[in-house]
Amino acid sequence: MSIITGFRCSTASTIVVLIVLAGCTRGNEQTAGTGSATADEGTTVRHVTAERIENADAEPGNWLSHGRTYDEQRFSPLATINEDNVTGLGLAWYFDIDTNRAMEATPLVADGIMYVTAAWSVVYALDAVTGELKWQYDPQTPRSWGAYACCDVPNRGAALWNDKLYVATFDGYLVALDADTGEVAWKTDTIDRTPPYTITGAPRVIKGKVIIGNGGAEYGVRGYVTAYNAETGEQLWRTYTVPGNPADGFESDAMRLAAKTWNGEWWKFGGGGTAWDAFAYDPDLDLLYVGVGNGSPWNREVRSPGGGDNLFLASVLALDPDNGEYVWHYQTSPGETWDYTATQHMILADLTIDGEDRKVLMQAPKNGFFYVLDRKTGDLISGSPYIAVNWATHIDPESGRPVEVPGARYEAAQKIIFPGAWGGHNWHPMSFSPITGLVYIPVIGSAESYANPADFTFIHNQLNTAIDWQTVANVPAEEYAAAPSVIARVSAWDPVLQKEVFRIDSGNGWNAGLLSTAGNLLFQGDAEGEFAAYRSDDGTKLWSSHAGTGIQAAPITFAVDGEQYVAVLGGWGGSLGVFTGDPGPDPGLEAIGRVLTYKLGGARTLPPAKVVEYRIPDIADTTASAETLEHGRVLFLDRCSWCHGSDAVGIGSFPDLRYSSAATHNIWNAIVLDGAYLGKGMPSFAGVLSEDDAQAIRAYVIRQGRSVSGSGNAE
Ligand code: CA
Repeated sequence: MSIITGFRCSTASTIVVLIVLAGCTRGNEQTAGTGSATADEGTTVRHVTAERIENADAEPGNWLSHGRTYDEQRFSPLATINEDNVTGLGLAWYFDIDTNRAMEATPLVADGIMYVTAAWSVVYALDAVTGELKWQYDPQTPRSWGAYACCDVPNRGAALWNDKLYVATFDGYLVALDADTGEVAWKTDTIDRTPPYTITGAPRVIKGKVIIGNGGAEYGVRGYVTAYNAETGEQLWRTYTVPGNPADGFESDAMRLAAKTWNGEWWKFGGGGTAWDAFAYDPDLDLLYVGVGNGSPWNREVRSPGGGDNLFLASVLALDPDNGEYVWHYQTSPGETWDYTATQHMILADLTIDGEDRKVLMQAPKNGFFYVLDRKTGDLISGSPYIAVNWATHIDPESGRPVEVPGARYEAAQKIIFPGAWGGHNWHPMSFSPITGLVYIPVIGSAESYANPADFTFIHNQLNTAIDWQTVANVPAEEYAAAPSVIARVSAWDPVLQKEVFRIDSGNGWNAGLLSTAGNLLFQGDAEGEFAAYRSDDGTKLWSSHAGTGIQAAPITFAVDGEQYVAVLGGWGGSLGVFTGDPGPDPGLEAIGRVLTYKLGGARTLPPAKVVEYRIPDIADTTASAETLEHGRVLFLDRCSWCHGSDAVGIGSFPDLRYSSAATHNIWNAIVLDGAYLGKGMPSFAGVLSEDDAQAIRAYVIRQGRSVSGSGNAE
């Protein structure tokens, strides 16, 4: 997986960021909340009823649900800010959030109040015009639950319904808050607390039912979606996405059907299929669409020996929202074995295809193909690669199934596959403009090596991918060199013709969510902190501003008293951000969470970004043998890199272990094996790693620290 290290910023891009930051004005260091505007004047509390959400297009000044409208198009009809005047856009206010962990949420705005969710599922209600804090809710998520984070501890958003705001917490609770005060109305536990479930996604509310899924398929869980009564929190239905142990009986006919596509004793590994992000709803068809994730463990040969499609992994599931009953499914990657989730953003639209009006569902899942489905029936209309794909040649239009390439399942030997486990597109929201007819896809390039393990032991509460990391860690660099280079771009995609119309290349290997507007604008941030506006019809860059922190989240736009605003969350971390270790410069900027809101003529300035001083600790160099160092490197990749970065290169979200102090080194085994830092989210690897293993990792980390160049104090 050393190709992933290719995501690290080049020296050139580092310099660019530093120059831009040096240009930040020191003028106004006032934080939001000390602003002079009055917050409550003229605010009338109106409730976000079913009618309002279903007709969200009729009130474009608000952003009432996750994708603005139930079809999740993330397009705004607002056009006061447009291609002719966007150069006059400036910061109206900012609000700093005390976290250095991932910020991935889409804010909601209702009647002048903005609701933001942050890392660790903390909720902020802000005056949308001034940024003044109205209330804050901290669920006090136990930091120890962070040990179950494959991909940091983000929260992607909240939901509104009547007088309540709903947020799901990282440790599996669904909480209803009084939208006016932040007081808890009810709180319910949505998970079986034995397997390590987590929640990072935004709930949706449909006909008085709060819909929520969960994550954890890297660890060994069984995915499901649950609906709760929005007023009381009472559970109304729960629909599993993969079958459990047949001996326990099946919950539904759908599970009985699905079980025929599995082999072995998959339930012992959970099976996976978590619905951790994407939902959409069609009020006319009255169908709820659920994006279903990867298998647990990843490797099908271990999970379901002898094969099988393993329904409903990597599928789009259509459910009856009244009772959760199965209506149809479309499986994007039958027999999923690459972490190819279909949890990516789904967009509903009505398109004319071959002269026929079609109600479609569109998705660009991790597997590299862009799908246009008939959302009434689940039938494939078309599927075409939106990025280089080497695991399948095409989607067979008759069967709707991908035509796989021999060896793609690394059945006989290690194989580099693209897209890799990060996907050709990850959680970052797309946008569809009904004006241009284009879907804007935040595409990432990734390639990853997969290999079958000689044997596999499932370990409770630990990562269980069933990939042979020893082999993966030693793939020759020239093999990676043959894979497509690492890229991030916005691909403006014509879903009718299934082709790219234009692209916007990013200088960075990670990407960010999108917003398109009727002002012929497309907004996007980037990992290095630039927030920009492009013409949505041709991709011409029209405006940009530096946010002082990396951006991954999707922007929104709203209006209050006739004035249009654009808002976005800044913050580093998240899955690939953490793994690659370096969307920012090194030594890096202090990672901060920040809400930024812009308007025409906005003149607020940001405080100067803080550059973090890293120092190599004053400890003796390791005397470990080359063999021990190599052992430590492989173990680090397998167990540590998910949070502390490939090659032990970290960023501001997690400790960069190369700079661990002498005091930390003195209690190394207590931290790694005895859970000394469990309260900070550092798992115990007792039973997974031996004392010698822990010391081999320590030796590797010391050596990595010694090899830091340009840190100013490396020996
Ligand atoms: Ca996954």
